[in-house]
Amino acid sequence: MTSPAARSERDHAPLRDAVATLLPRLTAFSRDLYDHPELGYREFRSVEAFAARLEAAGIAIERGTGGIPTAFTAQLGTRASGPQVAITAEYDALPGVGHGCGHNVIAASSLGAFLALAPLFEARDGADPLPGGVTLVGTPAEEGGGGKELLIQAGAFDAYDAAVMVHPSGRDVAAGPLSAKRQVVATFRGRTAHAAANPHLGRNALDGAVTAYQAIAQLRQHIPTTDRVHGVFLEAGTRPNIVPERAVLEFFLRSPEIDSLLALSERVEAVFHGAALTAGVGVDVVWDAEPIYLPHRLNAPLAERYAANLAGRREVPTRREDTAAVGSSDIGNVSHVLPTIQPFVAIGDPDIPGHSRERADSTLTPDGERAIADSAFGVAATALDVLTDDALREAAWADFHAQGDPVRVGDLVPLAPWPTFPEPVG
Ligand SMILES: [Zn+2]
Repeated sequence: MTSPAARSERDHAPLRDAVATLLPRLTAFSRDLYDHPELGYREFRSVEAFAARLEAAGIAIERGTGGIPTAFTAQLGTRASGPQVAITAEYDALPGVGHGCGHNVIAASSLGAFLALAPLFEARDGADPLPGGVTLVGTPAEEGGGGKELLIQAGAFDAYDAAVMVHPSGRDVAAGPLSAKRQVVATFRGRTAHAAANPHLGRNALDGAVTAYQAIAQLRQHIPTTDRVHGVFLEAGTRPNIVPERAVLEFFLRSPEIDSLLALSERVEAVFHGAALTAGVGVDVVWDAEPIYLPHRLNAPLAERYAANLAGRREVPTRREDTAAVGSSDIGNVSHVLPTIQPFVAIGDPDIPGHSRERADSTLTPDGERAIADSAFGVAATALDVLTDDALREAAWADFHAQGDPVRVGDLVPLAPWPTFPEPVG
């Protein structure tokens, strides 16, 4: 009888070879996305870049998944029976800094994992085809817009055993926490008047907004150090000689847990109403036009398997232990409906900031190429294990349920209407 380690070594050898063969094409794909960054829900060219590479491998792409123009899926094996894995891929960029979050590396590694698995779904000499199916799920608008949340609402993540993708970072880790995040817009409504001749007849919406902004700054002193509230003025009046009748604030709120995020939300909402009262103006508070991002419900069995699969290629700690500030992602929403891992892969200097020009440029270095290769292999090997190792699937689901029932955003708050998606230009 062969040991589990020897078995996985043998099973994973074709994936290692396939990723090595694919690597020049994957790095070219990453560079192509770097050269043509697209914002959330406008990733039309990026989706076509995926389509060209999938179709070249003889794999059909289904565009517009869930009614979202820049979402897509591609399928290996069957959805009708057997274990199911979703390999997610992000490909949206940021304004000003292009792929400053490195989603070009995510796209290349997820595509690479998917293409490396493809031959294993066909009958081979001395080996059965893999059971079940693997879906490549193209998830737009992670940087704002919550593509994965809308795909969950559309049922696109139903009936999978695991979801897997890797995100670039300063450090390697198989399971790193993410904060819950919420967005709110407060529109203050006053009354116009000549600011010099009859100011007493006006009611100043900008005063309401400024008071709210200042009060939130004071609130920050009395919230947990792991919570975050940060905002901007979207509108602040038109001319100094007109009492502003309209001022608009947008804030993001973050907290490590869902409950603490909802508690923070109540305090921020109270500030908006109190500030409006102070200025004698009205206020409309609209939550979640961008969907709530849930924290990551980490999955230890899948994270440990991912780290073990990369042993020899890259040292990946299983879990991040420090409590330094973290970001947020809609992968957290996926992690609350099924076992999900989003390991982080280190590229370049650990001190390169996220969402920076340096982060974008780092993806084109030899280190960026190594990150694509290792991540593609790690995702493919872990997906294969989920399909073939019943004990791993059971352990992943047991770990998921030990942390509670599945959570959908609609269970927590009323779901906001979907955005109007942009049309392709040109
Ligand atoms: Zn990102």
